[in-house]
Formats: sequence, structure tokens, C-alpha cells
Amino acid sequence: MAGPVTRFAPSPTGPLHLGHAFSALTVWDRAKNGTALLRIEDLDRSRARPEWEAQIFDDLHWLGLDWPLPVLRQSDRQPAYDAALERLAPFTYPCRCTRADIRAALNAPQEGALGPDGLIYPGTCRHRSMAEAGPEDAIRLDMAKAMTGALSFLETGVHAGCHAVSADHMIRKVGDVILSRRGMGAAYHLAVVVDDAFQGVTEAVRGVDLFDATPIHVLLARLLDLPPVTYHHHRLIRDEKGRRLAKRDDARALATFRAEGATPDDIRRMVGL
Ligand code: GLU
Repeated sequence: MAGPVTRFAPSPTGPLHLGHAFSALTVWDRAKNGTALLRIEDLDRSRARPEWEAQIFDDLHWLGLDWPLPVLRQSDRQPAYDAALERLAPFTYPCRCTRADIRAALNAPQEGALGPDGLIYPGTCRHRSMAEAGPEDAIRLDMAKAMTGALSFLETGVHAGCHAVSADHMIRKVGDVILSRRGMGAAYHLAVVVDDAFQGVTEAVRGVDLFDATPIHVLLARLLDLPPVTYHHHRLIRDEKGRRLAKRDDARALATFRAEGATPDDIRRMVGL
């Protein structure tokens, strides 16, 4: 039997750091006897830069990793995302609320529940129909309409096991997530599901910070009739103060360690592999 198809899906918005190295090495380790793919998640065109993309290729090659060509770029995929949005139209509505509108609509935002994308949307625009959607609108998923039965998915990483997620959880703890941002095209949740299916990914390997967003992806795959994916969420690499590494942590950029003479084996050791 063929091994799993996994993917590493960085955004070219800054240098890869030790956390990315750990993620990439885990993706390639999990793909033993299978295929590890690379996908460039450049949906946020205001922050994505070709220089960062070139640096990603260079750093990954230096780590000894290789991938089939051509590399999929999300900025080339808008027609596929539009087709998916069209299919999801019965479960979506246009929304023109700003962040400030959302805070104002919540009675006590400081106590307002936080979902995987921040404040849970209060539903102000839920009555609007897709027929009136225009360029000023984001598109949201009407979670109550979309959740016709419990979801389940298999996790092989940090939270290993089979997870069941109820409609009640999705409505109260996740809410009406954004599928398409005003002026930016597809949002992450939609793009990742459409692309994983398009690339034949069987196991999504990524940081455990995305675990809470996973039921959204399982739901979108179900609504779009796409094959289920297994998930492998790995631990996060933290600094001495216990904070997770961010793009701005140049000091921990792979390029910095390379310049100081570190070897790929040193990097493996630093991230505990
Ligand atoms: N582009 C995402 C990131 O850089 C990864 C998304 C995923 O693996 O599903 O965190």
C-alpha cells in the first residue's frame, strides 16, 4: 500500500524559524514511503514576498528535504476557491461587519467567548442573502445551517484518538467563520480544505495551535463532498520563556543558525528530533 501524502504549507511572510524546521522535518518523517508535498500559502498578498518564498525553498533544501514540482501556490487557486464558495452558497451569507461592529454587538466582549478565529460572531448579518453579496462583503458560513450532524475525525498526533464534535459545540464555540475575506479572496479555512483535497493529501501535519480549527476543516470537506483527511498535530517549539516562536524572532531564523555554521543535524537536535 502506498504511504501517506503529507504537506508542509508555510506562508512566505518571513524567515523560517526553528518551529518551521520542526514542522517540516515532522512532515517529511511522517511521509516515509509516501509523499511529502510543499504548498505556499500566500493568500495574504499584502504580506507575502517572493524573497521569503525563495528563502523557504533554500532553507528546506539545506535541511535535506525535497518535494515534487510544481509547487502549489494559493495565489493561483482563486478559481477553485470560487467554485467551492459557489457550492457552499446554501450555507453562507454576506457580512460587512468590521471588528469594531462585532465588539459593539457583543454585550460584554471582554467576557465574550473566543473561538479558533477570535471573538465568536454575534450573527448580525445572518439574515442577509447571497443574492445581495457585493465587493464590500466577507462571506460567512451559517454554522447552524451547515451542521446537520456530529463530525468526527482521526488525530494521530498530540491529541491522538478519534474525535467527535457536536453541532452544539460548533454553533456555540466556533460560530459563523469567515470563508472569504473582503477584497482578499478565500480565507485560510476554505483554501486549506480545497487544496488538501486537490493535492490528494491523506494526512495533514501541522502545529497543535491549529487543532481547534480542525473541526471547521472536517465540516467543509463534508459539505464539499471531499475525502476525509487524518490529522497529525505536533507540539510547538517555544523559546526559553515558553512563548511560541514567531516570524519576528529573527534570532531563531534558520538562516541565522546556518550563517553561524550549524548543520542540519544540529537543527534536528535543537528541536528534539
Ligand atoms: N499556513 C499555515 C501556517 O503557516 C499552515 C496551515 C496548515 O498546515 O493547515 O501556519
